[in-house]
Amino acid sequence: MLAISFILGIAIGSFLNVCILRIPKEQAITFTRSQCPNCLTTLQPLDLIPLFSYLLLAGKCRYCKKPIAFRYFLVELITGLIFVIGAANFEIMQNPLNAIVFIAFSCVMIIVFFIDIDHCIIPDRFSIGLIVAGLLLSFTGFYPLNSEKLYIGLIENNYLFFANSLLAVIIAGAIFFVIFWASNKYYAKQGIEAFGFGDVKLAAGIAAFLGWKLAVFMLFFSFFIGALISLPFMMINKKKLKDAMPFAPAICISAIVTFLVGEHIVLWYWQLYS
Ligand SMILES: [Zn+2]
Repeated sequence: MLAISFILGIAIGSFLNVCILRIPKEQAITFTRSQCPNCLTTLQPLDLIPLFSYLLLAGKCRYCKKPIAFRYFLVELITGLIFVIGAANFEIMQNPLNAIVFIAFSCVMIIVFFIDIDHCIIPDRFSIGLIVAGLLLSFTGFYPLNSEKLYIGLIENNYLFFANSLLAVIIAGAIFFVIFWASNKYYAKQGIEAFGFGDVKLAAGIAAFLGWKLAVFMLFFSFFIGALISLPFMMINKKKLKDAMPFAPAICISAIVTFLVGEHIVLWYWQLYS
């Protein structure tokens, strides 16, 4: 089962690479074969096998010998691992909905992560799409499986799931909007856009899936991840924290971790103080 998940994952990862490359350029995702970005040769099926083609060709284009970005390999590998983790952690045979939602959610996080790094934008189809999808999904009584202790009251009252999801969107949106507003007011004089409105919509979309308690945790945790990512850059480039912080990528990592183990961390933290 896990082997099948991995193989399916790296194949989907290959598709995510195409999305990351083409969506910001408004190009069609399907029906056109990929080309080498350097020599523009249309790639053959043998060049497009996830993970293996990269290893087989030693990371170079078969036609022009120009190095292929390691990124493609990395995205395929990460996606493969996400599929395995999702299938194992949520026991895909027992809880197919949770496993599938986690995997689909994580795939969106991977796309947003890399598009934001490349272009500093978060396309609305992902952020707004997440808000809509998360709210609709809540009608089915969905919640991240390992958050049942946090939402124990909800599980007895099925109709409250939608309220939880909506509340999460509002709380996460409001917190991020305040940060967005404050940081832009502060940094506008220096001509820097520290924090985009895209981040606000993204946080709200993620929150729709997590419910309000996990959403609040996800927000705080994303600052922690952001600082962690920035530290090496700050030491190398002597940048200030704010300049070096890629915020949407930090939110994406935080969201995946929260979906997986957020409840454990929150409960552990509460125990420290009770
Ligand atoms: Zn080439």
